[in-house]
Amino acid sequence: MDPLADTLQRLREAFSAGRTRSPEFRAAQLKGLGRFLQENKQLLQEALAQDLHKATQLDSAFIRKEPFGLVLIIAPWNYPVNLTLVPLVGALAAGNCVVLKPSEFSRSTEKVLAEVLPRYLDQSCFAVVLGGPQETGQLLEHKFDYIFFTGSPRVGRIVMTAAAKHLTPVTLELGGKNPCYVDDDCDPQTVANRVAWFRYFNCGQTCVAPDYVLCSPHTRERLLPALQSAITRFYGEDPRRSPSLGRVVSDKHFRRLRGLLGCGRVAIGGQSDEDERYIAPTVLVDVQETEPVMQEEIFGPILPIVNVGSLDEAIDFINRREKPLALYAFSRSSQVVKRVLAQTSSGGFCGNDGFMHMTLASLPFGGVGASGMGSYHGKFSFDTFSHHRACLLRRPGLEKIYSIRYPPYSPRNLRM
Ligand code: NAD
Repeated sequence: MDPLADTLQRLREAFSAGRTRSPEFRAAQLKGLGRFLQENKQLLQEALAQDLHKATQLDSAFIRKEPFGLVLIIAPWNYPVNLTLVPLVGALAAGNCVVLKPSEFSRSTEKVLAEVLPRYLDQSCFAVVLGGPQETGQLLEHKFDYIFFTGSPRVGRIVMTAAAKHLTPVTLELGGKNPCYVDDDCDPQTVANRVAWFRYFNCGQTCVAPDYVLCSPHTRERLLPALQSAITRFYGEDPRRSPSLGRVVSDKHFRRLRGLLGCGRVAIGGQSDEDERYIAPTVLVDVQETEPVMQEEIFGPILPIVNVGSLDEAIDFINRREKPLALYAFSRSSQVVKRVLAQTSSGGFCGNDGFMHMTLASLPFGGVGASGMGSYHGKFSFDTFSHHRACLLRRPGLEKIYSIRYPPYSPRNLRM
């Protein structure tokens, strides 16, 4: 018996059951809180006086957005220009000095960023630092005022641990396995076009790409020929010769992905060539939840299809796993899309398409849980890289009004 564990379990179960979600429930709880304050004013005043000898007063206030100071931006290799420069825009716009650490895997971009970009910026306020894990580890020993990291959850933990030593705030833009639910009522070719486009774009090396499809066996059978048709239309009969299909970034990443081709059964594609770091657009079926392809983020041109018996089963499957960066639901029924949205959690969500939600500057982009914390894009970038300083300015006069707060706190003084 662990009373604390029991309490936490009880609260988690209430959250999972959706108790806290409805506006009525929230309003009722806030009204309860208001009643608590009203009905127990005396009790609270006495308690505060005993604990802290405290009286409070409200005043008008404003928020001043100020730069943090020296900011470190660490970037991955998969979109090496976008994922360095978009955060940089926010950091500079907010008035920070910046150290930029591009990925060592995208060597050519790293070189341009290190050699050319500083010529366009004031070098007394901006620097590019190069290197891999070891050099980044050394960099992280220094104190920064903010760290913005994009990369894997594994390295995200390293960055956050290093930041904690200096109490440095972080934004972590991480990855994970993004589910894609496909309802039975969908037009298979439309779904296949969209899923194939955003799964195989950049050779599958996109943090918001759908990592796996969840659908019924019936829908799977309709999706497979449609996916094959989309792949052939996009990349031709021999995708290896298509200029529109990218390559895996490194030998190390290629070998990991080739290993995943052994999971389940290959329904489409499956060919690979180590010399070119080529992996054909691939669809896997009959995969087990315990196989590596369903355990780790794929980050390559491989799409497993997992069978589920119902929408409830799909939602349960999603909720049993870490919260993803993106979640997709395809259905002609807006009720189905809304149910997936309401009963799951993810960094972002897109109904009936893939990753378009992250192209809108009006929406914040970021993860939740294991897929990250914090967000950016558009105005949200400026806010991310700014300290929101809570300020209160008071006129020098009106001393008589304000003198109510001065001790001694006798009942007579408090009445004036
Ligand atoms: P990664 O975590 O391996 O590397 C990211 C950065 O961290 C690189 O600059 C690298 O040099 C540095 N790094 C690597 N190991 C380190 C260590 N031990 N100590 C300190 N620094 C270290 O990620 P990656 O392979 O470059 O990128 C792929 C991952 O990034 C995927 O998980 C993908 O989902 C994620 N990603 C997320 C987003 C997003 O916006 N959320 C965007 C792109 C990629």
